[in-house]
Amino acid sequence: MPDTAILWFRRDLRLDDNPALSRAMAECERVLLLYIHAPAEESPWAPGAAARWWLHGSLRALDHDLRERGSRLLIATGESLAVLARISAQTGAARVYWNRLYDPATRARDAHIKLALRAQGLRCESHNAALLREPWDLLTGTGSPYKVYSAFWRKASSDLSGLAANAPLPAPAGLKRPPAVDTPVQVELDALGLLPRIPWDQGLAARWQPGESAALARARCFIGGAPDAPPPGTAALDGYAQGRDLPGQPGTSSLSPHLHFGEIGPRRLLALIEQRYGSITAPAAEAFVRELGWREFAHHLLYHFPHTTTTPLDPRFARFPWRTADAAALLAAWQRGHTGVPLVDAGMRELWHTGWMHNRVRMVVASYLTKNLRLPWQAGADWFWDTLVDADLAANTLGWQWIAGCGADAAPYFRVFNPVRQGERFDPRGDYVRRWCPELARVPDRFIHQPWAAPTAILGSAGVVLGRDYPHPLVDLARSRLEALAAFDSIKTA
Ligand SMILES: Cc1cc2nc3c(=O)[nH]c(=O)nc-3n(C[C@H](O)[C@H](O)[C@H](O)COP(=O)(O)OP(=O)(O)OC[C@H]3O[C@@H](n4cnc5c(N)ncnc54)[C@H](O)[C@@H]3O)c2cc1C
Repeated sequence: MPDTAILWFRRDLRLDDNPALSRAMAECERVLLLYIHAPAEESPWAPGAAARWWLHGSLRALDHDLRERGSRLLIATGESLAVLARISAQTGAARVYWNRLYDPATRARDAHIKLALRAQGLRCESHNAALLREPWDLLTGTGSPYKVYSAFWRKASSDLSGLAANAPLPAPAGLKRPPAVDTPVQVELDALGLLPRIPWDQGLAARWQPGESAALARARCFIGGAPDAPPPGTAALDGYAQGRDLPGQPGTSSLSPHLHFGEIGPRRLLALIEQRYGSITAPAAEAFVRELGWREFAHHLLYHFPHTTTTPLDPRFARFPWRTADAAALLAAWQRGHTGVPLVDAGMRELWHTGWMHNRVRMVVASYLTKNLRLPWQAGADWFWDTLVDADLAANTLGWQWIAGCGADAAPYFRVFNPVRQGERFDPRGDYVRRWCPELARVPDRFIHQPWAAPTAILGSAGVVLGRDYPHPLVDLARSRLEALAAFDSIKTA
């Protein structure tokens, strides 16, 4: 048995169903468990502020879990290749194991590291911990990547039972002793400076608990029925198909940040579904499994079209006449949740306060930014990147390009979400708006999604004067929609 190995943790911060970890433990006598903090290597998509907050908690939880099993996490800073080379030389490690990531910067870095370490005589092994199917495994009949979700998912899910047979690996029963190491690149978690200096994170701490145990508890609670004390915001899979579009109540799994940081993997979720319903194709789970399919599709697109993080997949949109007048002021009002459109403002405030936003509302605020305000989707994607705890390059890129109408399988550009109609349909009593825009709490249901349409006396008895307690709308919804359609007409024949 080879003597010493390095297991390089990245966004796979768990012990359960971690193929690289399981292989390292099975094949080597001593395994050093390493996390390298090298945000510049992910540039320009180094984790934003909310994701850094999550990462801090996740690394702390992982170290705790490892110590309970007699090992520990070694945290290092510096250039990843240099750190790996230095630590392997110091410990005599001849092997490095990791799980794959799919964003362009990391892929390029990992390919370089693999070559360089192999040239130094080390063995490098990478595994799949993040996805049900590798992005390169699924291609159309003509050998090209998919651009349409339904065709992609038909193919990807054609063998769902086969995927279920690919059962998740249990966490290794015991962890091998790590080799002694004393290196100047080693740092304490707090020294990474991941937590904010000005404490704006109370809302995040109240809503979330990063780490594998919390991820598993949330997944079990969501899929497995009602436990005694469900984590905040946890819904139940049984009601997912009906409740997933209603932002005023917990209707979705809230697993996105746990999935992004690899605290739980999709194979484990399928296994829990199979355990609960007897099959992962059970009708009760279908809508949820389809969303996991969107996650797979997002990674497929990012892998095959890496330029789309900043450039529209549909090249016509490179010429789109985005608004320039007052752009900075309008963007700031959108970011702060001061647009005067209650559903948009509620979403943007939920995001700022909790680091998360309901999917239905993500679509509404993104449509409002790109169509009613006619500001570039990249500006919205950047703000989400900095403020979401689940900021994920694959899902964020797909979501923004889809809404802007310039991505794969995009919503047709002319489909402009009307935030008033969306509110009336999906938040009919205004529960969601009242929670996040308390200044509107007493506005009657009929006007809660369009206070500007309410007679002054009604607003007055609800304690609201527009322009004083709550903003006038930044733009007229009907007129800005027509302007957006005209702008689209100007590029669509190009
Ligand atoms: C403009 C925009 C930006 C988005 N940015 C992100 C992002 O940065 N990170 C992110 O994880 N999701 C993003 N999404 C997708 C979606 O909004 C979130 O995944 C979802 O709201 C997370 O909540 P949940 O875990 O309760 O989801 P559930 O409804 O419980 O879904 C389960 C899981 O499926 C995956 N999923 C669900 N919907 C999608 C989707 N449309 N695309 C890709 N994966 C999906 C997520 O991993 C999610 O955790 C974005 C959507 C839009 C419209």
